[in-house]
Order: sequence, then C-alpha cells, then structure tokens
Amino acid sequence: MEISRKFFGKTKDGFNVYAFTLKNSLGNYITLLNYGATVQSIVIKDASGAGRDICLGYDTLNAYENNDGYLGACIGRVGNRIGKGIFTLNNISYQLAKNDGDNHLHGGNKGFDKYVFDVSTFGNAITFSRVSPDGEENYPGSLKVSVTYTFNDDNQFILDYHAVSDKDTIVNLTNHTYFNLSGEGDNDISDHLLQLNAAYFTANDQACLPTGEILPVSGSALDFRLPKTIGQDINLNEQQLINAGGYDHNYVLDGQGMRQIAAVSSPKTHLSLKVYTDKPGVQFYSGNFLTKRTGKSGSSYMKRSGFCLETQYFPNALACPDFPSPILRTGEEYHFTTIYEFSN
Ligand code: BGC
Repeated sequence: MEISRKFFGKTKDGFNVYAFTLKNSLGNYITLLNYGATVQSIVIKDASGAGRDICLGYDTLNAYENNDGYLGACIGRVGNRIGKGIFTLNNISYQLAKNDGDNHLHGGNKGFDKYVFDVSTFGNAITFSRVSPDGEENYPGSLKVSVTYTFNDDNQFILDYHAVSDKDTIVNLTNHTYFNLSGEGDNDISDHLLQLNAAYFTANDQACLPTGEILPVSGSALDFRLPKTIGQDINLNEQQLINAGGYDHNYVLDGQGMRQIAAVSSPKTHLSLKVYTDKPGVQFYSGNFLTKRTGKSGSSYMKRSGFCLETQYFPNALACPDFPSPILRTGEEYHFTTIYEFSN
C-alpha cells in the first residue's frame, strides 16, 4: 500500500490543496483531496486489466470551487434537506440558510464540501479533520469532525466518520460521490443494475423534502429489492418520480448495524459496487439535477451521468417524529462507517 501526495491548487482564500492517492496491491487507486475531503477519482481494473475511473470529478481546484453538485465531497454538518431551514432543539429554534428553494440543503451556503481539512496519514489510511466552530452556518456547538478513508487489498473503500460537539447539536455526515461503473464520461447510468435492501422509503414533497410519511416500496417504481436497471421504471408516471425528476429518495434500510445495503453493476464493464453501512438510511440519487459541465480529461457530464448512494440519517428528521434522531448530545460520540466495495 502506498500513499502519494501531489499539489492540486490553492483556494481563492490561499489554502494549499493536495491530491492524495491511496494505491492497493492490486494496482487500483483512489485519489482524495483535502478540499471538502473529496473523492476525486476511483480507478479500478476491469476483467481485462484496464483501469476505469468510476467516479465523476474535476481536474482543477477551480472547477471544484466554482461548480455546484458536490462531486465526491464530504457533506456536513447535515446532509440533505431541512424544511424551511428551521429546526428546534432544547426549545431553541435555529434558522439555517435556505439554499435550496425554501429549504436548507447539504450544510448551507458554505458546507464542509467547501472547506480545507487537516490531514494525517497512517498505513493505508488518511484522516481529514476540522473543527466546525460554534455557530458555523448557524448550527450550535463547536464540532470536531473527522473522516478516515481507507482503501484495502480487498478493494474496500472504507469511510469512517467521527464527530463530537461541546453543545447539543445535530449531525448527519455523508459522502456525495457520483459513481458511473462504465467509467466517468460514459454518459448514462440508466443501464446499471441496482439492488437496494429496503422495503420502505420516506415520501417526498415536490421539493424533495421528506414529509414524514414512511411508505412501502412494494408496487412502486421505488422497489429495488430485486435487481433491476435504474432506467427500467424511472419514467413511470408516479408522483414520487415526478417530484424529483427521477430517483432522489431516502430509503429506510432493512436491518440494523453494519450490513450490505446495495449492489450495483455496469453491463458494459461488469464492474460492480457493493455498499455496506451501519446508518439507518441511504439517499439514492439518479443525478437528475446534474447540469451540463466538463469533468476530468474533458469528459462531459449531464443529467444521469452518475448516481449517488449517500448513507445517512433520514432527511428533515427533527420535523418528522417517526424518523431516527440526528441529535448529537454534548460530549457524545457520533461514529458511523460506510464501505464501498468494488469488484470486476
Ligand atoms: C440531493 C439532490 C440534490 C443533490 C445536489 C442530493 O443529495 O438528494 O436533491 O440536488 O444532492 O447535488
């Protein structure tokens, strides 16, 4: 296992950003940036031995700073949406930024995706950490947060999240990698076969905000309990799909503790991804709002160029009494792990 480091650029406010590459003994590698603790590339050999870069990203820091879409980034403090940007904790109401129509999305105006993290490396792992000060984006508590990325010889990319706060607060960290198992730049993930171990999902309103209702996937386009292509039902005339222009839903994952929650494969490269997590939910997002842009090596990205499987607490949880609580009490430890495992 090797970790190498290369200068990637300087942020607009003068911080140095490096690209760190974790290479395993099979010759597969993952490149990470200390800007946004971002996953910049994931290169896995297909059965013929050719390396395929299976995540969307950019070649320059400037592109990361100037584009939307959160490509590959660590999302915090709270992933996904909070209705009207308001939550109440210990009888105090906090008004967060409304940066997605009337709602708060992915941490606000300047989320973790736009910060430069501290770095430490050991063995085959790299830890990105930062202290998010009390009141940052109006969230309470000074939050010490870290994400450790490990890439092992079983082609498992392990994302290990820790956080601790000096005041009661809410936390829901995730990663926003857009995968395309046919190789980034191959422009449609509709042909990918997906299986999701979830019998229920949280229903969305027209702004993709969970209403609090938990519905069975059975009999709807959202049912991925048996493998089917992402595209098979995506254009059905169902209100949940119309709301999001495709899939953009939180699935209520079956079971508890660390378990396999999803499997995806490309019919073109036969590369596959299995996802494991100990979190209660996953946002399956079919890249509906990804606008046209230029990615790595001149690839062009657009709607459906990638899909995300963002492990998480259910969005809008404080407004929805039946959802697991994302509250982190003073001094308690937030600790979750997600594993993306690749094979050819
Ligand atoms: C959300 C989408 C949003 C996207 C932003 C996803 O996690 O569920 O609704 O548009 O992030 O890139």
